[in-house]
Amino acid sequence: MRTTMGWQAAGPARALRRAPLERRDLRPDDLAVRVDYCGVCHTDLHAVDGRDGAADALLVPGHEFTGVVTATGDEVTGFAVGDPVAVGNIVDSCGACAMCRGGQENFCHAFPTLTYGGTDRHDGSATLGAFSREYVVRDRFAYPLPAGLDPAAAAPLLCAGITVWEPLRALGVGPRTRVAVAGLGGLGHLAVKLAVALGAETTVVSRSPDKAEDARRLGAHGLVASCEPEQMAAARDRFDVVIDTISAPHDLGPYLGLVAMDGTLSHVGHLGPVTVETIDLLVGRKKLSSAGSGGRPATAAMLDFCAEHGISADIELLPSARVNEALDRLRRNEVHYRFVLDMSDLD
Ligand code: NAP
Ligand code: ZN
Repeated sequence: MRTTMGWQAAGPARALRRAPLERRDLRPDDLAVRVDYCGVCHTDLHAVDGRDGAADALLVPGHEFTGVVTATGDEVTGFAVGDPVAVGNIVDSCGACAMCRGGQENFCHAFPTLTYGGTDRHDGSATLGAFSREYVVRDRFAYPLPAGLDPAAAAPLLCAGITVWEPLRALGVGPRTRVAVAGLGGLGHLAVKLAVALGAETTVVSRSPDKAEDARRLGAHGLVASCEPEQMAAARDRFDVVIDTISAPHDLGPYLGLVAMDGTLSHVGHLGPVTVETIDLLVGRKKLSSAGSGGRPATAAMLDFCAEHGISADIELLPSARVNEALDRLRRNEVHYRFVLDMSDLD
């Protein structure tokens, strides 16, 4: 075993605390990665806040990170020590099912191994995330970080970015598409940048009208205030694709109302049961969809696209020791638009 430092939640306390944690010895197809930067995703907050006190296992969040390879297993050929890499929220999959064979490891029939809160497929151990200085990952699930992308601002591409990239691509978003992005946070602001770069006419739908200037700076045409019924009514049936990144349970009705005939609402934000009035789908033959993370080919393509178009997250970089402040501010929606932790203070 290898020992590293990380930020963990244990027992009933909400705050993460600094503590040593173990990483496995390298298997033949493993990489050891020095984690330099890790984004703070709202899913981390759901995981921390959703813990069931002492009954819960140890939690180390963090599933969008960049760093440098420090060691390679005996059979690794695609990476060498010193390579800059990026890793997202999937670190293994069965590799044999139709989804894996088709490059959709995120939908692996045996369920992909998540970067934290998952179960290692070989030794059965619980996976611990990248709010730590070292991660050990199967080589297939590390991606070369393209030159030209800032490693701190690129880290959020590996969860927030790919989660919105896959539905944007799958729904054929391009120059003739009208896209709305609901919720301007980590996922939302990257959805705007990616949709704009794909050529779509892009609009933000937000409960925070004061984000209008930011929406335009990100390339959006404008902002529809979800709290203003007249604005929502004026936007009725206007969008071919609505990407819903809202982090709290909410009524999908008003957002389906924005979808154009035969268009799609892709609900990628807060996961869980939703209630839908059939009539909201019936009128206009609308579709409701979801997505999460991405397969290996799409993740690599997204990174290339971002490098080509100069896209990365708008970040606030904090030393990892301020992780609890980042989580608190994310709870209060005080983020523009992603916190990224600098892990070098764990040395
Ligand atoms: P975030 O940065 O906190 O952004 C969420 C945004 O949702 C906020 O900025 C806010 O935007 C809006 N919002 C929050 N609470 C709301 C409420 N009560 N009513 C209406 N709007 C509200 O979060 P994130 O990291 O982007 O994550 C967003 C969600 O996606 C989370 O639930 C996360 O768990 C989930 N997620 C899913 C996947 C997946 O695989 N499908 C992957 C990553 C994350 P405005 O102020 O603009 O309204
Ligand atoms: Zn995430």
